[in-house]
Amino acid sequence: MTQVIGGFAALELHPNILAAVIATGYEEPSAIQTLSIPVILAGHDMIGQAQTGTGKTAAFALPILSRIDPAKRQPQALILAPTRELALQVASAFETYAKQMPGVSVIAVYGGAPMGPQLKAIRNGAQIIVATPGRLVDHLRRDEKVLSTVCHLVLDEADEMLKLGFMDDLEVIFKGLPAERQTVLFSATLPHSIRSIAEKHLRDPKHVKVETKTQTVTAIEQAHLLVHADQKVSAVLRLLEVEEFDALIAFVRTKQATLDLAAALEAKGYKAAALNGDIAQNQRERVIESLKDGRLDIVVATDVAARGLDVPRITHVMNVDMPYDPESYVHRIGRTGRAGRTGRALLLVTPRERRMLQVIERVTGQKVAEVRLPDAAAVLTARIKKLTNALAPLVADAETTHGELLDRLTADIGCTPRALAAALLRKATNGQALTLAEVEREQPLVPNSGAPRGERSERPERSGERSERSERGEPRERRAPVPLADGRARCRTALGLRDGIAAKNLLGAILNEGGLVREAIGRIQVRESFSLVELPEDGLERLLTKLKDTRVAGKQLKLRRYRED
Ligand code: AMP
Repeated sequence: MTQVIGGFAALELHPNILAAVIATGYEEPSAIQTLSIPVILAGHDMIGQAQTGTGKTAAFALPILSRIDPAKRQPQALILAPTRELALQVASAFETYAKQMPGVSVIAVYGGAPMGPQLKAIRNGAQIIVATPGRLVDHLRRDEKVLSTVCHLVLDEADEMLKLGFMDDLEVIFKGLPAERQTVLFSATLPHSIRSIAEKHLRDPKHVKVETKTQTVTAIEQAHLLVHADQKVSAVLRLLEVEEFDALIAFVRTKQATLDLAAALEAKGYKAAALNGDIAQNQRERVIESLKDGRLDIVVATDVAARGLDVPRITHVMNVDMPYDPESYVHRIGRTGRAGRTGRALLLVTPRERRMLQVIERVTGQKVAEVRLPDAAAVLTARIKKLTNALAPLVADAETTHGELLDRLTADIGCTPRALAAALLRKATNGQALTLAEVEREQPLVPNSGAPRGERSERPERSGERSERSERGEPRERRAPVPLADGRARCRTALGLRDGIAAKNLLGAILNEGGLVREAIGRIQVRESFSLVELPEDGLERLLTKLKDTRVAGKQLKLRRYRED
């Protein structure tokens, strides 16, 4: 499908960057990439309104890398990110995209790590610096010329940086940069504070925002499931146990993911195949024909490969990876609910992508209900139902066709008909777990099993998610409390994951409204129905009074001292 490659090729990226993008398995640019890349390549200042999950990192990384001169061993691009985790993620995305650009090196600069090696890497000629503002200011204090060669500046998640109180640091950094530079600002929201930064520090910026029209989706039942990236495959397998589907299309982002998921499904006995941009046209047609006539039941596809796919048998759409924008969500789920039938659309959402879910709900004007992973009992019930459905129609005349054989076999073996029927069932179900205890023992059915986390390699988790992650297994709500550090008190709010809260929201609110420094706030644990925050014992009552009317995610925080007895 040459037209697929054409998507990125048309953007005039440096050929080596284009090659790396294709090697990464991206098939076409996301909307924010299509709009931002030409603007950044042309050297304009830009304000991009986009949140995580839209492909915003590549939207600035690809054009900036295309404009770097690898022969010059000096800092050329500076990316500022609010947290250490995001800085690491962005740095590793840059490394991925720069793989075929010899001589380009990237350094992540953040607090908590020794300054010496960071400074050394900068002096050794790293062209890309990805930094948190606080630590960068420390470097500037040691060497005010450290940024003097930077000609591209990106402020990533600018609104988050301001929420974390980095305004003053940003001003110091702006002063340390050459006036003659390109400045790009990405932010999910554009409050007044961001606009005034843009007015002061950007020159005639172009605005880039993916327009979202309200779209209606009817006759499609939608649901979402919160899941960690490395648990997606087992979540899909478990969901499929209980979903009664005829044909299903599963959407993922990369070619490799189509192959991996299709292989996992096949291994479980599903009639599944992958569909991606590498698959030749005649093979693609064969896959679609097979889905139409029932030789296949599941197709795992990228958006590009699924284009134009119209199969009335599709009862389910599974969004295993989040679409880049609400339009493509609507487009994807429109594969089901054809010809007046109702369809079902399931969406897997990782903790970082909750905001994207809210955008989808806003644009479609519909709530996408949360569902839980079915438990072992539900899986067992579904398996027995499937078996019953498969056998029931045979009972009517099986005795006529196979009754004599049954008599003969029971006589030959010397067993009861019940024993023989049980043996036949064992053979027919091929070792499948069919008692509650067995189903519970099955590996993939254990949520948060502690398996190594395979979150996209270029994206380590962000602060706050670590605590959310460990809180996801329900029984842990009653886990033994973590010992408190001296001088700290633990406080509780009734807001939790189910309210769409992440640790960073709590941190932002407490910093902003409570007037604390970051170091004053200890561990934040976000659980399903509540959260715990460690605050300084000294002056706690005053602080809680100050936070009395604070709202987070539109709800009252109501923080109280928490006693663990
Ligand atoms: P971001 O919005 O930058 O956090 O990116 C979200 C995820 O999308 C990351 O895992 C990227 O690797 C992935 N991604 C970005 N652009 C593309 C693309 N054009 N095709 C497929 N995946 C992409």
